[in-house]
Amino acid sequence: MLFDAMPAQRLWVPRRVLATPAALSWPQGLTMVERAEALGAEIVQLKSDRLSGLPDSYRDAKSTLAIVVSPPSKRRPQPIPPSADWRFDLAAGCPAHCQYCYLAGSLAGPPIIRAYANLPEILAELPPLLGQGQITSRNAARIGEGTTFEASCYTDPLGIEHITGALADSIRMFGAWEAPVQLRFTTKYDGVAPLLNLPHGRRTRIRFSVNATGVERFEG
Ligand code: SF4
Repeated sequence: MLFDAMPAQRLWVPRRVLATPAALSWPQGLTMVERAEALGAEIVQLKSDRLSGLPDSYRDAKSTLAIVVSPPSKRRPQPIPPSADWRFDLAAGCPAHCQYCYLAGSLAGPPIIRAYANLPEILAELPPLLGQGQITSRNAARIGEGTTFEASCYTDPLGIEHITGALADSIRMFGAWEAPVQLRFTTKYDGVAPLLNLPHGRRTRIRFSVNATGVERFEG
């Protein structure tokens, strides 16, 4: 009901997409490029896996999507107290402009949005962590939540889902994972409709971040 009553948010369209050769060797990378191109984005296929041609200005950076491969060091899930047992990253950066966003001080370099094409490798890191972790897995008061995996520490994954499809694949994976586990993410976006009928197995929890009207002028 809530979503029926609200005007739909416009989908973000990157002005420019930088795609590395390694990312384009993954089907997910190719699909992201196809979706961005269909939305009207300029596609730049880089000659090497090192990102180049990054914009200088904040506004240009926020309209640039880099499709890259997440390296092993970034793929390794990390403990993330107090929200969940583990954090894993589908992307880094967010196209929104909230002035209070902690990402501005957490991510190095220009604030482009990096989407990871090697999703199967990212998700393959999760099963060995079943039952591990200190926040919900081994906490008597929260053990009913299962082993928890947080996907929105360095991005708002729903804001770019129409290009990445990474949340849908993650939800399907958790839905098929017959174990006490939970995928969770938080968002300021509302484009959940394509996710609602996925076979989620009741193992995904979405949290919505809603502010008072007076805070709107600090967002965008
Ligand atoms: S939507 Fe969330 S992640 Fe994106 S800029 Fe705003 S506070 Fe940051």
